Amino acid sequence: MGSSQRVPIYELPKENLTFLSTEHQSFTYKNLYQFCERIQTHFEAIQPSKDRPIFIVSDSSVETVFIIAASFLLKVPILPIHPKSKTYELESILDQVEPSAVFSNRAHSMDLLERYPELELPDEIFSFDEEDASVELALDEPEQIAGYFLTSGSTGMPKIVPIKRRQVFFAATSSAKNFKPGNNKYWLLCLPLNHVGGINVIYRSLLYHSAVYLVASFEEEKIRKLLHHKKSFEVASMVPTMLVKLMEDSFFRVHFNFKAILLGGGPISMDLINKSLTRGLPIVCSYGMTETCAQIAANPMLRSGGMYIPKKSVGSVFEPNQIEIRNDKQESLLYNESGHIWLKGSQVFDGYLDESINQNYIDEDGWFYTGDFGHINRKGHLFIENRRTDLIITGGENVNPIEVEEILNSFSSIKESAVVGIPDKKWGQKVTAFLVLSDTNSKLNKEEIEKGLNDALRSFKRPKEFVIISKLPKTETHKIKRSELIRLYREATK
Ligand code: ATP
Ligand code: MG
Repeated sequence: MGSSQRVPIYELPKENLTFLSTEHQSFTYKNLYQFCERIQTHFEAIQPSKDRPIFIVSDSSVETVFIIAASFLLKVPILPIHPKSKTYELESILDQVEPSAVFSNRAHSMDLLERYPELELPDEIFSFDEEDASVELALDEPEQIAGYFLTSGSTGMPKIVPIKRRQVFFAATSSAKNFKPGNNKYWLLCLPLNHVGGINVIYRSLLYHSAVYLVASFEEEKIRKLLHHKKSFEVASMVPTMLVKLMEDSFFRVHFNFKAILLGGGPISMDLINKSLTRGLPIVCSYGMTETCAQIAANPMLRSGGMYIPKKSVGSVFEPNQIEIRNDKQESLLYNESGHIWLKGSQVFDGYLDESINQNYIDEDGWFYTGDFGHINRKGHLFIENRRTDLIITGGENVNPIEVEEILNSFSSIKESAVVGIPDKKWGQKVTAFLVLSDTNSKLNKEEIEKGLNDALRSFKRPKEFVIISKLPKTETHKIKRSELIRLYREATK
């Protein structure tokens, strides 16, 4: 990190401000500070360290939010895992890092974790009083590790990303340029707490002195009501499929105080963007990843400085981070030329926990290879085309599956689709569409769909085969596991 990039300074929120609310409970920052004081003794007993984080194996809950916030304020590294993770996933994590203790708010069936101490919270820890907490808390130490966060595992086993506090501070400062909820205003937390997107809602609320509103599972009707009728909601973080769900109700709107639905984590279709804008929903399309501590570019879709940002762009990469588009030979490309997206800067990680893979991702000058493909226009706006490994090469031509999926998804008979390249002797990869039907009892009108595709796409891009499937395999962060579809296809055609 260059010395000219000064780490942003953050102060602790005032005690009387709201920290966290749910449908039934509300807590102030004073409550959080008391919790920190009480849990410190438990932390001292288990001695978490940089090499031995606390594993958090829990559902979204008030306890989990408190532990994540307290560990940040007390500078204790954490490693969140989904409570339903498979044994082989856990084995791969334990091969790389072991916990000092395990916190779990529900019974999990991970025998492998039984040999580690449990971090138990006595009930009294949540019975707060008027006493002032005397414990040293601070939002500093930029080079310390905040946590070890898992990537979504879209392309294989999730990778473990050590996230430094500096990345959290810079990421929060960047996103505050677009929107920032105020004191006692809510940031809706409906993303899982085992990935950077959900955890960041807590971190940012601490840094912006705003409040978290926790909805433990994605109940669309409840969320629609909150965002439409409550004037204290200002921001919500979602993956695109969540917004698609909310929009299924044509009356869904947001309160006029509401500032931003922050969308990210996966491709955002033009259809979703257009429909949201027609309904006056303030969406912010962002691009980011675990390695950059969530968004590193975002398009607020406003005319800022007289410059209009095209809808399909994810805006410009936040300063002081840098971006380069490179070809296969690692040469920098010019404006409007598509290539690999490389990133560098204060928000970007230093390397995976598994050092043996770092040479594939980080070059000698510290640039990170994201694995994503895209281009930048003359004004510096970034356009994400796809993940490099998802790109289909058929008969020597490149096909972006997202372009084909957007057309397929526009048919009312198709609920969702995934287009992949199945290895094929003739084509190299055969464009194949997996379709989930809107009505499982109805039949697909193949003629209508083929006509639609013929009108919209050149022939090499059109699927050569359609496979009806009841459900698409997805990651916890709602992303399609394309390699799993290829595996299923191969198994079925063996
Ligand atoms: P893994 O690295 O384990 O294969 P993953 O890359 O899906 O999984 P995350 O860090 O959760 O894990 O996701 C980051 C990725 O999500 C980005 O690299 C990119 O491929 C995709 N992504 C994020 N935002 C967008 C966006 N706006 N448009 C398209 N893709 C996006
Ligand atoms: Mg990734």
